[in-house]
Amino acid sequence: MAHARVIYDNVLYQMYEGLSMGSQEAVTVVRAACPCGNGQVRIVVTYEDTDWGSRDHDWHGVVACERCKPLYAFVGAGRGADVVHVEDKELCDRLRDEAKAIRRRFLALAEVEEVLEKVAAAFDALPSVAARYRLAVQLKLETATLATFRRHTRDCDTRRWLASLRHMSNLAALFAFAGGDPASVSAAEAQADALEAQALDALRPTMSLGPISLFASPREGQ
Ligand SMILES: [Zn+2]
Repeated sequence: MAHARVIYDNVLYQMYEGLSMGSQEAVTVVRAACPCGNGQVRIVVTYEDTDWGSRDHDWHGVVACERCKPLYAFVGAGRGADVVHVEDKELCDRLRDEAKAIRRRFLALAEVEEVLEKVAAAFDALPSVAARYRLAVQLKLETATLATFRRHTRDCDTRRWLASLRHMSNLAALFAFAGGDPASVSAAEAQADALEAQALDALRPTMSLGPISLFASPREGQ
């Protein structure tokens, strides 16, 4: 018999309704009435049984209602999932893609290349690892100890090391150091952030389900 308990007004947990797929198991962890009330929405968690125990592999939502199926989609929200309108999710995805594209375009600018080259030259001109470490800390490229910095950069070309740190979050300090315009970094970042905020606003959840982890749920007979 499945173990069930009420989590929200209309949400039941129901365990062990899974179908076995080799070492992967799919289990319904959340179940609720669909928005129109004639069917159900479910969250199914796929987990893997390994030698080290079970771990969450993935999850997906199921709309078991002919009327609601074309209208709704699922998005992760904290430890749970929200049921949202399909067109809202599409708008959200589009806005997030635009935000990503803004960051990608900025990171690909020739000016970023020039700044990184100047920073690399400054590092290479320093006489010792300790001096390079101090500069890395000053530029907020390293937050760990000197020993860790040594490990991070051992046998590693300065340019390759810097290339691995080519993120928007690192650029403002590097631009300020190398005589670039840090405001151009923050302007692009603000533009991307605004789009991400719009993306989040676009999702107007119809209902919230969760938590969706197998391990946050009651298990029967264990
Ligand atoms: Zn429905």
